[in-house]
Amino acid sequence: MLNTYQSHSFIGCDTDFGDADIIIVGAPFDGTTSFRPGTRFAPNQIRIDSYGLETYSPYLDLDLEDYKIADIGDIEFPFGNTEKVLDAIRKNISTIVENNKKPLMIGGEHLVSLPAFEAVAKKYPDLHIIHFDAHTDLREDYMGEKLSHATVIRRGWDLLGDGRIFQFGIRSGTKEEFEWAKSHTHLNKFDTDTLSDVIPKLKNKPVYLTIDLDVLDPSIFSGTGTPEPGGIQMKELLDALTSLKEINFVGADIVELSPHYDTSGVSTAVACKVIREVLLLLAE
Ligand code: MN
Ligand code: MN
Repeated sequence: MLNTYQSHSFIGCDTDFGDADIIIVGAPFDGTTSFRPGTRFAPNQIRIDSYGLETYSPYLDLDLEDYKIADIGDIEFPFGNTEKVLDAIRKNISTIVENNKKPLMIGGEHLVSLPAFEAVAKKYPDLHIIHFDAHTDLREDYMGEKLSHATVIRRGWDLLGDGRIFQFGIRSGTKEEFEWAKSHTHLNKFDTDTLSDVIPKLKNKPVYLTIDLDVLDPSIFSGTGTPEPGGIQMKELLDALTSLKEINFVGADIVELSPHYDTSGVSTAVACKVIREVLLLLAE
C-alpha cells in the first residue's frame, strides 16, 4: 500500500504508477542528521526546480520523455520515530519492487537508504551497492545510535557482507572506519579512479546506486548538512555515471541535499541534473 502525498512531479515524469517502469518517491526525513538539518526540504524543492532542466541528456544521449517514469510524491512520516520512518520507507520501496518497477528515492538524509537496501535485497539477494559520498558512513554506531546517517553503509554491510559494497570519493571518517574498510568494502579515497576496474566485476549483477551529493566539492554543492572540502567536480561525477551505462541498476537514491544552505539554488540544480542522469541509467 503506497501512502504518499505530492504537489509537483519531477520534469518529464508524469506516467501513472501502474504503467511506469521507474518510480520516483521522496523520503523527506532528517531526524538523525548530526550537524545541520534541512534535507527534509529537498524532494519538493528538487521537483519545483527540475523545470529549469531539459529532459534530454547530452551525456547519455537519452531523453526522460522516451521512458515511463512516475513520480508518486513523498512518503508520509511519523516524525520523531526513526524506526517507524524506516518501516514506512521499507514498505513503500517493497511495493515498488514487488510490482517489478525500479525505485528512485530522493532523500532526505542518508539513513533513508537503509530500508531501501533491505527492500531491494529481499528481491535481489545478490545485490551489490555503488556508493558515492564524502564520508565513509561505516561507523558501528554514532554516539551509541546504530541507526544514523553516519552508520548507513555499515548497516548495508550487515545485510550484504564482504565484497558487495563499492565506495567512491571518500575523504572523511575515523581511522578505524578506513582500516575496517580495507578488509570489508572496496573504498576509493578522494576520487573515482578505480571505477573502471570495478565495472567488469559488476556486470550481470543487480546493483543499487546510492549517491550522497556531498561527494561533490562544496564549491559547487554547498547546500548540504556536512560539507566536506576537497570533493570531486561535477564533470567527474557525470563521467562516472556515464561510464555505468552497462550496469544493471535495480534501484537508486540521491540524498543529503539541504536546499536552504544554498540560497543561489545551484545545489538544487546540481541535484536535479544528477537525478536526471540516474533516472536514465535506471531506464536503459
Ligand atoms: Mn556524506
Ligand atoms: Mn552519506
